[in-house]
Amino acid sequence: MAETTKNDAQGGVRRWYGAARGLALSFWAPFVCIASSLAFGFPYLPLIVAIIVALVGALVPGRPQVGRSAWRIVREVMAWLFAAVHLAIVALWLYFATGAFDFVIIPVFRAAVCDADRIVIRDGGGLCHSKPDEEPSLFEITNKAEIASFNEMFKFSGRTMPCCCCGYPGIDWWRDGRRVVVSALHHGHALRVEGFVGDLRLTVVSSRRIQKWLEDNCGLTEDEGIPKYQYCRHERDIIEDAAQNWATAGVERKPTLDDLREEFKKNGKAFPSCPAGGEYSLTYGEDGKPEVKCTAPRHD
Ligand SMILES: [Zn+2]
Ligand SMILES: [Zn+2]
Repeated sequence: MAETTKNDAQGGVRRWYGAARGLALSFWAPFVCIASSLAFGFPYLPLIVAIIVALVGALVPGRPQVGRSAWRIVREVMAWLFAAVHLAIVALWLYFATGAFDFVIIPVFRAAVCDADRIVIRDGGGLCHSKPDEEPSLFEITNKAEIASFNEMFKFSGRTMPCCCCGYPGIDWWRDGRRVVVSALHHGHALRVEGFVGDLRLTVVSSRRIQKWLEDNCGLTEDEGIPKYQYCRHERDIIEDAAQNWATAGVERKPTLDDLREEFKKNGKAFPSCPAGGEYSLTYGEDGKPEVKCTAPRHD
């Protein structure tokens, strides 16, 4: 009887050791799985593979233990060590990729945005240099189901050191006509939310989903960091300068937009245009100063 219990206990230990050995032998697997998880946007592959190799290892226990040589002890210690490394990599990946272990920020953020009745993607950044009330909106969501699925995209894996820029675009949550959360996306992978200390680091999967969403719905690409209305101002300045220089070149007639377009073409330069698709018109003030206006909302 005592013999059976001892055998059972040894069998149990052997199974655990088998699982550890399985994990140790496949300690390289997370790297391969992380690469494919990134490619397919499915973050749980490393976890699934770890569970499978551990199960297979447990079901196929090694040879019965005969004596304890030094070599065997070293081998066993190495197996436990590499198994621990394997599990640590999987846990770290899940933390950074899914936010699965973020029990602090996510609930606070969820509580702040859950009753929003309107979300505005704003052509601006954080409050440091932006005036949210004066900035054009790039996209608005008011449908409850769409708000919920938009909010669902935001998963965090802790905080990150804030960078120096204002971020772009601005993302604001509104309730009953009041802006309840003001935020700005930073470089596609962090969200600076007014009221939170530090930048909230988006998980790998979340960051990709949000960037894809912004590209599909607002036509924003990752390298876009300047608000469109500001860029438009810059483009109109170029046209106004060209008109001014033309006017001072001793030609009697003031140039029209078509004249300037022709001139740019002759010089092999692209004619400036509004990044938000607004139309330009050129007028001259009483003092003869050229002024280019844009039809896009709030591009003045
Ligand atoms: Zn930044
Ligand atoms: Zn414009």
